[in-house]
Amino acid sequence: MARIKLPGLSIARLASWRPQLKTAVPAVLIAIGLAFIVAVVWIWSWPLSTADRFAAIGDAATICGLVLAAFAAIVALAAYLVATQSPDLEAEIEFLSAGDRNKPVFLVGQADERMGTRLVVIPTEHDPALIRIRNRSSFAAHTPAIRIDLVGLGGLKAQPGWTIGWVQRDPFNQQWAQWEGGADYAIHGHWLRALPELSFEGVAVYPGVDVPIIVITLVADAMAPKWQTIPIDVKDDATYPAYVEERRARNAREPGRCEIGGCADEARFVIVVRVPGHAVQTLHVCAKHRHFQGRGARLRARGSWIPMGDAEVQEVGEVT
Ligand SMILES: [Zn+2]
Repeated sequence: MARIKLPGLSIARLASWRPQLKTAVPAVLIAIGLAFIVAVVWIWSWPLSTADRFAAIGDAATICGLVLAAFAAIVALAAYLVATQSPDLEAEIEFLSAGDRNKPVFLVGQADERMGTRLVVIPTEHDPALIRIRNRSSFAAHTPAIRIDLVGLGGLKAQPGWTIGWVQRDPFNQQWAQWEGGADYAIHGHWLRALPELSFEGVAVYPGVDVPIIVITLVADAMAPKWQTIPIDVKDDATYPAYVEERRARNAREPGRCEIGGCADEARFVIVVRVPGHAVQTLHVCAKHRHFQGRGARLRARGSWIPMGDAEVQEVGEVT
C-alpha cells in the first residue's frame, strides 16, 4: 500500500494525538449541538412569521448537518491513515571482527591457482554475520522476510535458520540466503530483532571482482520491498593491519574525558544510557552531565554520533 503523506503532518504525530482526540471528538459534537440550539433561540427572536422562522431553522439544521458530515469525514480519514500505515524496516549486517555495521571489511587470501578465487579469511574462529532488522516506524511489521544476495562472491554453507539458494551462472554461481519470519512473527515499532547467525566460513571472492557486494532485500506486509546495497571492502595481508589499527583508534574511549557530544570535561561518573532503537551502553561523564537526561544531545556509538532523543539514563558508579 502506498504511503500517504500529508504536508507538515506525520502519521506518528497523528497517532500520538489519540488522548486529545478522545476528548476533542465529543467536544466538537457538543459544540455543534449547542450552536444549533443557540441558532434556534436566535432565529425565534427574529420579526418573521412562524412559517419563515421554521424555514430559517431548517436552513440552520442543514448547515449544522454539513459541518457534522465534514468533521466525521476528517475523523474517518485520520483513523484510516493511522490504521493503514506501513512499517519502515532497515537491515543491519555486522561482523564482530570484520568491519563496522553495514560496512564489512574482509581479509582475503591469495588467489587459488586453478579457480582464480580468493578465499575470505575469517580472522577469528567463529565470527558469523550478525544480522538484525530494525523497525524505524511506530507501526509493527508482520510476516517479515529477508534475502541476502551475494554478488561477486559465494560459498555459503547450509546452516540453521537460513535457506541457501543458488542460480547457475557460469563460470561462478550466484548465491543467496533467505530467512522468513512467518505469519506469527512481528517486528514491533522501534524494535530491533536479531536473526539467526549467518556464517561466511568458506566463502570465496570470484576472479576479477574488486568490490564484492551484499544486496539485502527486505519485505513485510503493507511495505514495498526495500533494497540495500552493501559493498564489501576487500583487504589483503598488506593492507588489513593498518585498517585494524585505524578501527581500534576510532572506537577507543578517549581516556578521562566526558563522552557527551561537545563536552571535554574530566569524566568522573559512569552512566548507563538506553536510547530507543540502539544498544544499551555505558558512558563516562563529567559532574555536570551526571544527571543528564539526554534531550538534544548526541553520544558516541562505535565511531559515529547518534542523537540521544528520549534516552533513559542511570548512574552506575564512578570512574576509577
Ligand atoms: Zn560533560
